[in-house]
Amino acid sequence: MIAHNVTTITADDRASVDLVLRSGWIAQGPEVERLEQTFVELYGGGAACAVANGTTALFLTLKAAGISSHDRVAVPSYACSALLNAVHMSGAVPAVVDVSAETFTIDPQAFSAQAPDARFVVAVHTFGSAADVDALRPGPYVIEDCCQAIGGRLDGQPIGARGDAAVFSFYATKIVTGGQGGVVWSADRSIVESIRDYREFDGRDEYIPRFNVQMTDLQAALAVNQMRRLDCIRIRRRAIASIYLSALPSGLGVHEAPSNPDRMPHRFVVIAPDRVVRDALRKHMAAAGVDCRVPIERFELLHRYLNLDPEAYPVSERLAETTLSLPMHLSLSDDDVARVAVALGGFAA
Ligand SMILES: *Cc1c(COP(=O)(O)O)cnc(C)c1O
Repeated sequence: MIAHNVTTITADDRASVDLVLRSGWIAQGPEVERLEQTFVELYGGGAACAVANGTTALFLTLKAAGISSHDRVAVPSYACSALLNAVHMSGAVPAVVDVSAETFTIDPQAFSAQAPDARFVVAVHTFGSAADVDALRPGPYVIEDCCQAIGGRLDGQPIGARGDAAVFSFYATKIVTGGQGGVVWSADRSIVESIRDYREFDGRDEYIPRFNVQMTDLQAALAVNQMRRLDCIRIRRRAIASIYLSALPSGLGVHEAPSNPDRMPHRFVVIAPDRVVRDALRKHMAAAGVDCRVPIERFELLHRYLNLDPEAYPVSERLAETTLSLPMHLSLSDDDVARVAVALGGFAA
């Protein structure tokens, strides 16, 4: 069976972790600093702070930006529960917004209608597709959630440079991984310094509540080493996507065709006309030895978790019923990719 997702760890990755193990300093230290510096270099300035995971990065950004308990935070309905967790952790109120059918990202028109009073918005670049950050402004504080888009570029800039802050995750299934880990980057250094202050809980002169949200050097060494391969990772992922795209049988669509040459595809998501065809495709692929996954099930949609009226979220509802994600990772051999493409091409919708 060709696995849907595999974490790719190179010999070079192992060597970088081994160096940390041998150094005797495995907690937060020089490798975490190096990871932060990598982000400052990537964006050509600003500041970055590494934390325990992407959810914490999001929570601490909201907190550092001065969120209070009556503030509303707009989040896309077609997204993972980590977004709700971060908003609830901050004490504020989530305002769930439907997404665009092309990019699966927060729909600016739905945003105006469903969260007109939101002081914050989390713009998720879903599966590597860029959310329309400019259309959400002016007004709210925009946090770009780049957890599925790291290494992508937009109009000559790395994705994440348009909003007020950007958050990243290094969880095992992401494009770059440390096992766990997260980063906040912002051009506004004061936001980042406030997060750093919260993270440095130990040995302070005066006590205020802070928390241990640190990333370890073991995780950071892995992530730093993979960050150096971002261009190779993007080229390989795009090559896989274009092979699948050319094998796509008529009757099936795809999540945003990779027309922007700088986009980093995180998933290759096929769109079927309805649930019956989607489920048939999944069975057909499994019979051919290819493990495909429903990226977000209906029960996982954020408006469903909050018991909001599903009729207000028609696009998200449809995507949960009609989409299927194909294997797309760096451990696929050319033969694997060809096998997936042949299986896909052999499906009669
Ligand atoms: C993975 C992910 C998160 C959460 O990151 P963790 O490191 O798992 O906490 C948040 N937003 C998006 C879009 C993600 O894909």
